[in-house]
Amino acid sequence: MAKPVIFTVDDDPEVLRAVERDLRRRYAREHRILRADSGIAALDTLGELKLRNDPVALFLVDQRMPRMTGVQFLEEAIATFPEAKRVLLTAYADTEAAIRAINEVGLDYYLLKPWDPPEENLYPVLDDLLEDWRAGYRPPFEGVRVVGNRWSSRSYAAKDFLARNQVPYRWLDIEISEEAKELVAKADHGEPRLPLVIFPDGTYLEAPENLEVAERIGLKTRAERPFYDLIIVGGGPAGLAAAVYGASEGLKTVLIEREAPGGQAGTSSRIENYLGFPKGLSGGDLARRAVDQARRFEVEILTPQEVAEVRVEDPYRIVRLGDGTELSCHALMVTTGVSYRRLDVPGLEKLTGAGIYYGAAMTEALSCKNEDVYIVGGANSAGQAAVYFANHARKVVILCRSDDLGKGMSRYLVDQIEETENIEVRLNSSVVVVEGVDHLEKITINNSGTGEEETIDARSLFIFIGAAPKTDWLDDVVERDERGFILSGPDLMRNGARPKGWTLGRDPYLLETSVPGIFVAGDVRHGSVKRVASGVGEGSVAIQFVHRYLSQV
Ligand SMILES: Cc1cc2nc3c(=O)[nH]c(=O)nc-3n(C[C@H](O)[C@H](O)[C@H](O)COP(=O)(O)OP(=O)(O)OC[C@H]3O[C@@H](n4cnc5c(N)ncnc54)[C@H](O)[C@@H]3O)c2cc1C
Repeated sequence: MAKPVIFTVDDDPEVLRAVERDLRRRYAREHRILRADSGIAALDTLGELKLRNDPVALFLVDQRMPRMTGVQFLEEAIATFPEAKRVLLTAYADTEAAIRAINEVGLDYYLLKPWDPPEENLYPVLDDLLEDWRAGYRPPFEGVRVVGNRWSSRSYAAKDFLARNQVPYRWLDIEISEEAKELVAKADHGEPRLPLVIFPDGTYLEAPENLEVAERIGLKTRAERPFYDLIIVGGGPAGLAAAVYGASEGLKTVLIEREAPGGQAGTSSRIENYLGFPKGLSGGDLARRAVDQARRFEVEILTPQEVAEVRVEDPYRIVRLGDGTELSCHALMVTTGVSYRRLDVPGLEKLTGAGIYYGAAMTEALSCKNEDVYIVGGANSAGQAAVYFANHARKVVILCRSDDLGKGMSRYLVDQIEETENIEVRLNSSVVVVEGVDHLEKITINNSGTGEEETIDARSLFIFIGAAPKTDWLDDVVERDERGFILSGPDLMRNGARPKGWTLGRDPYLLETSVPGIFVAGDVRHGSVKRVASGVGEGSVAIQFVHRYLSQV
């Protein structure tokens, strides 16, 4: 924690030097002693201290200063640092002003100049006040702060990015937080673009892109070398498992992840069916453990970084990243999983991130306190989210298109939902209209059983309606099925014939695609099971085939 500040202000240079000297002599070990020669200059410094979240323990201020008196300065200073103790330095003639200040600015003490000897006239007073301040002081949050508007999609993106990359942050809503308003007033002449992402050293970024934030918080976005034994695209369970196995078995490995390591699993509030965790574990926890493990084996993890294109120049497989950089390797593993399918409803696109979210958006849970939350979907991910949000929201309503929740959801989740009092399930129900100016205000629900439509007030809608692979960037490189899932191993063989263009004298290995040396694992694979454990299993197993392939290159 930064040392608490003792701030002294005086326009007389000689007096200022003397006060500073005496303060340093006794308090410098545990405090930062700051000084200013005018109230205006001091207020500027206070703004910087506030942005850095540095605490101020005490103001020691001369009353007689031109332009701004000590009391006037304190009036403004305590708006920013209300807990700081306030001491006025006065001449005998100022006594009346000082007494008035006791009420006006809650003055704690006024000292008469000169204060010699300080051991008798200064230190006892300040010791007492500082002890009092320490007793009531709660250390500020020292991490990243995000100041923004709850309904801004950019604010949501910044929060989601930090949360999914396991960076603790404090959210300050400009609509309801006084601290947020103060921080905004102090940044960029009071008119910063939001969200404002403030770092512990007091510097900030206005409405930043994820890449800018990533660089500031120390995420790695650029590769260390141009060539790797193994490049893995996608940092979900399958990619992370492949990275751990590959690197632990000596392959120089880089993993490239577009958003945040953990993939879909990283957004799960509780994974209950992963072996070895009888009480379940959150996706964030699983992702953090896997990332630590991968880093321990010296996997390079680039995030956020997207692979935009793949090229084959035998014996190399070359990937081009979103920023244009190219990296090459002997073996490439595609573990890009699937993404939520978009709900095709008029007006929905505009409100995405402003009350409408794809996936669990756990960052929003606290904001939904005492509100009703609507969840669209009838599979496990929707069920998990409902149980999770029920701990925060007043009521959770699941809008399920089918006539039976059990058709798409595991029994254990259906049971949990039935046992949770504040979850309501509406069957045969779909959202057909969404409305709102700058955030979601109303939804219209259609009941396919009765044909009735109902419009209700709603501020939060979370969508979980199945998922599809995004593999267009692999078009013309590897064979895919009609839905974009990547074919591998035996699925590539047609009537005993190997895939088109295949030149090797062997069949494709299990998990190898139609291009030798390009492998696939996890949800993006045609025929995959779509579970965390199966992704992890495939990612690990694929490494055996990578070794076999490399032994022949
Ligand atoms: C909310 C939710 C809850 C779930 N709960 C469970 C559960 O309890 N139990 C269970 O077994 N399964 C659960 N699942 C399913 C499970 O999470 C998935 O099966 C698993 O995550 C698939 O892993 P994967 O590595 O194949 O892909 P993903 O997890 O989808 O990861 C793919 C990664 O690739 C990245 N990526 C995509 N394209 C690119 C590109 N071009 N460049 C770089 N990176 C890219 C993505 O950003 C993503 O991080 C849940 C899924 C969801 C959404």
